[in-house]
Amino acid sequence: PTMAHSKALLVLENFIGGKFVPCSSYIDSYNPSTGDVYCRVPDSGKEEVEAAVKAAKDAFPIWSSKSPLERSQILNKLADLIEHDLEAFAQAESKDQGKTITFARTVDIPRAVHNFRFFASSILHHITECTEMPTMGCVHYTSRASVGVAGLISPWNLPLYLLTWKIAPAIACGNTVVAKPSEMTSVTAWMMCKHLEKAGVPPGVVNVVFGTGAKAGEALVCHPDVPLISFTGSTLTAQRITEKSAPHCKRLSLELGGKNPAIIFDDADLSQCIPTTVRSSFANQGEICLCTSRIFVQRGIYGQFLKRFVAEAKKWKTGNPSDPTTDVGALISKEHLEKVRNYVKKAQAEGARVLCGEGVDPLALPPGNQKGYFMLPTVIAEVKDESCCMQEEIFGPVTCVVAFDTEEEVIRRANGVKYGLAATVWSSNVGRVHRVAHRLQSGLVWTNCWLVRDLNLPFGGMKASGIGREGAKDSYEFFTEVKTITIKH
Ligand code: NAD
Repeated sequence: PTMAHSKALLVLENFIGGKFVPCSSYIDSYNPSTGDVYCRVPDSGKEEVEAAVKAAKDAFPIWSSKSPLERSQILNKLADLIEHDLEAFAQAESKDQGKTITFARTVDIPRAVHNFRFFASSILHHITECTEMPTMGCVHYTSRASVGVAGLISPWNLPLYLLTWKIAPAIACGNTVVAKPSEMTSVTAWMMCKHLEKAGVPPGVVNVVFGTGAKAGEALVCHPDVPLISFTGSTLTAQRITEKSAPHCKRLSLELGGKNPAIIFDDADLSQCIPTTVRSSFANQGEICLCTSRIFVQRGIYGQFLKRFVAEAKKWKTGNPSDPTTDVGALISKEHLEKVRNYVKKAQAEGARVLCGEGVDPLALPPGNQKGYFMLPTVIAEVKDESCCMQEEIFGPVTCVVAFDTEEEVIRRANGVKYGLAATVWSSNVGRVHRVAHRLQSGLVWTNCWLVRDLNLPFGGMKASGIGREGAKDSYEFFTEVKTITIKH
């Protein structure tokens, strides 16, 4: 950008030890709905990570010695402050990520607020274990202590939502943190930092270092004073993080990709199933790790389902994310859009049928969005199970629909991928629903619904979808160190 141009850009700074600090170099960040550079993000490296880890280490003794109640009050205050600014956060998230303003207003930011409130409450209710051994004159009990500096690395699809899902439990448990959001979606994390002091979060408890995974992310993963890494992102990056952290034997929580099946039996209530499955396929442009991308429909209703499903998908309006009537916003980047489009091309080359969307229907965009990274919701049928479209995570508004005959067969096919994050099962037969849910290799199974979450319960994936779980008890266990103490009387 020219000098005149760069003056108008939003410039972010790292947040270290309670202060905003400039960085020596910056990365351009794009507005996905216009294709323009609108923000500059610090390109942090070892030096910045070092300063942030030091600040977090220095803040740890005081923060970890506060009572859960004191920390809880601070988290609640932070939730209130973010909620007070909900509209500004939602606008920023939509502009930075490409998601619709409606989604940011109703899902992303309310959930970020809720994450702080949820852990502010749950931290007050944990009970440790105690056993007695009368013949030995002993009681045993467990105690849980904060661990230290937690490294938190988050992706671009649900920026503030996923980052706060890590920050909230980490600090509620008395740890201090160094967080690194995705370099493509850093703005709302930076906005959150502006509220920390007012909420009463002491300097150094939450540090945010912006930059790329290769530089800032790896510096954090390799830092010897960061014993915990909580990561949400792709399976490929998780492999790299596992390798890089191995020499330090770090504790890792890995929330990764999915290739989530929806299994629709012929006794399903289609009036519920169809709109929900359209939503589970295309919400947030299909850029949610829990999105459905393989739809198995029992043969008897296959034709009817396909017709109604495509008709419903076509109703989703793609375009300007800041228009509240838009259903599908822009994809995160030009490269990602290209990648998603290529999957559709590969499917066509293999003989699959594209029933609506990419390459089939016209995409009409308002003048200001012509250079944005848009794509219509796309439904593909007659795809082979071995096809890359049925095996790999596409992470865009593309879903495949195929027919099946028996329960046994569909379980085998649904499990026939490397991932195991989330599945949905549609049937009115209670026995079948339980049977199938038990046999699916999936960390989450929703029956006759999608994305209904109780944050108390474990969240996470099997197989290549991750290691560990997050939730009230699970996050508490991850972010604390347990000790067994024996007392003889
Ligand atoms: P990504 O793996 O490319 O990046 C995630 C984060 O890791 C970013 O902050 C990135 O900068 C950082 N990173 C990249 N390389 C790194 C390295 N070598 N060392 C340390 N950090 C590094 O993922 P993405 O493209 O941002 O996000 C999309 C992926 O996230 C999808 O696979 C999606 O399924 C997954 N995801 C999973 C969940 C879940 O809860 N299971 C939730 C949302 C997204």
